Amino acid sequence: MAEALLFPKKCLKCGKYLEEDGSRSLESCFCDACGREGISLIVPPFCAVCGVRFHAGDTHVCGACLKAPLKLGQVRAAAEYKGIVRDGIQLFKYHSKLAMAAPFERILFQTFLQYYENLPIDFIIPMPLHRSKMRKRGFNQAYLLSRNFKKMYDQAFGRPPAWDTDLSSLVRIRKTEPQTGFDIEERRKNVKGAFKSVREDRIKGKHILLVDDVFTTGATCNEAAEVLLKHGAARVDALVLART
Ligand SMILES: [Zn+2]
Ligand SMILES: [Zn+2]
Repeated sequence: MAEALLFPKKCLKCGKYLEEDGSRSLESCFCDACGREGISLIVPPFCAVCGVRFHAGDTHVCGACLKAPLKLGQVRAAAEYKGIVRDGIQLFKYHSKLAMAAPFERILFQTFLQYYENLPIDFIIPMPLHRSKMRKRGFNQAYLLSRNFKKMYDQAFGRPPAWDTDLSSLVRIRKTEPQTGFDIEERRKNVKGAFKSVREDRIKGKHILLVDDVFTTGATCNEAAEVLLKHGAARVDALVLART
């Protein structure tokens, strides 16, 4: 209560004061008008590999994945990149609305439980940022989307997970241009050589789960997966908050 009086809840997008209802959901961060479009969670059917949502039929491998197979084993996304998920990600990343991290992390953890809880994951690696970007932004959104996973897992199951979070095995060594406006081939070229794996001993034979905020063509995640596989990882999957 005291907190509500000191910090009255405001819509994160337009700043309108909101009724404090005690909810910590993503929806409760927005007023009715800004939250109108809601969340489009990704449910089957979707591509079994890249996770893109199909609007009819069964889960199968999409044409794009058949034509140019990803290095990633599978990609699972929590929601489509639209509505309050898109708005929230933009507020989070580009306007430092760090209050978005907690509701997003809860949504992402549900997707993790749904698709990865039963897989023998060894390490969760939040996609690293280049140090210059880290300096500029001040935080790594992928890290903030998964930093409480171990605690959340422990709370859900009453035991610690078998996997660990790894913040040192993968490094972003090259600053890249923003991917916006590039086609898939340009995106691939743009991220070539962007990553380095510095802990070969650690990742050898391991099953790694990359965590990121948005998956568009997947060029960045896929490049990271290629580097990890080249250095001996057994399998690399991805868990992302939003999929375009
Ligand atoms: Zn609003
Ligand atoms: Zn696909």
